[in-house]
Amino acid sequence: MRQILPSFSKRPTFLLGNLDGVAFTCRDFHAEKVSPDSRGLPVVHHSRYVCDLPPDHRFPMGKFPRVLHFLFQDQIVSEQQVWIPELVSEEILNCVHTMEYVKNFVNGKVEEKAQRRTGFPWSKGLVRRCRYETGGTLLAAEVALERGLACSTAGGTHHAYPDHGAGFCLLNDLAVTAQYLRNSSPSPSSSSSSPAGRKVLIVDLDAHQGDGTAFIFKDEPGVFTFSVHGDKNFPLHKQRSDLDVSLPDGTEDRQYLSTVEAHLPGLLDSFRPDLVLYDAGVDPHHDDDLGRLRLTDTGLYQRDLYVMKTVVARGIPIATVTGGGYARDVDKLAVRHSIVHRAATQVWKECGM
Ligand SMILES: [Zn+2]
Repeated sequence: MRQILPSFSKRPTFLLGNLDGVAFTCRDFHAEKVSPDSRGLPVVHHSRYVCDLPPDHRFPMGKFPRVLHFLFQDQIVSEQQVWIPELVSEEILNCVHTMEYVKNFVNGKVEEKAQRRTGFPWSKGLVRRCRYETGGTLLAAEVALERGLACSTAGGTHHAYPDHGAGFCLLNDLAVTAQYLRNSSPSPSSSSSSPAGRKVLIVDLDAHQGDGTAFIFKDEPGVFTFSVHGDKNFPLHKQRSDLDVSLPDGTEDRQYLSTVEAHLPGLLDSFRPDLVLYDAGVDPHHDDDLGRLRLTDTGLYQRDLYVMKTVVARGIPIATVTGGGYARDVDKLAVRHSIVHRAATQVWKECGM
């Protein structure tokens, strides 16, 4: 098999170095509960990543708890590795979303037409789910900044715009996280005479373009948006990311992986982010109902391994979200979504993190 993975000559070092034995408290993070196990890969999950939907709704909501279920069942992850996020505050959401949009969404003042555009009927449970999911991405990023790598079991709602939702996305968790972390702390590499927020690279490998994220950061040089997606797929009208790669329908493992390999190392070396947010959508899989690409399980695993190793090898923290994935068989889909956590576990071990 072709060698696509970078090798490690030494353990990458992160901001705070070796943290074995350091006690974390909830106050240090946007967390309801922090992991007592400082040795394993941090996995961010909340039981309220889900909400009720009408029967036969086409969004596979049941996948979220099943991802963690299979990670436990296959002994990839233990309960001690799980970090539980807080409900994200309206104030944090307002760093990307308009106050009016957030207020109306939280209070259920959403018109029929706007609800149809998102694909979800409004409910209190939906609001709670979206706020925990966004909180989960923020917590994964915060933990990644400390530990080098962390993975949520949801997230990647990249079609949400500042003042409206679309395509199963209500709040843009990736954008909120990137903007909040930029606002909250200067880049470690910036000089004190010209303070600047952390630089964030968003690597969006979901089958659909991250149009909301691209729009939000179109004039923000501190956030670089990189999207690899199906050319013919939703959204019909694409936005301009900092780097877009459009793929034809039916793209298979080999071409897909060489596309990612052709761009990622150069981006990391030229943009030099302080954090990478990685949307590991599994809708490029050949069995996906909406993706139109033809990746295999092995292809997705190699993709995730390659992205994380390439980032971690440079000493850059990376947080992952699960992104899109659509299938009737929720268990099959959940196993597919768990590929990124399995690959992350391999990276965690191989890199001695
Ligand atoms: Zn997608």
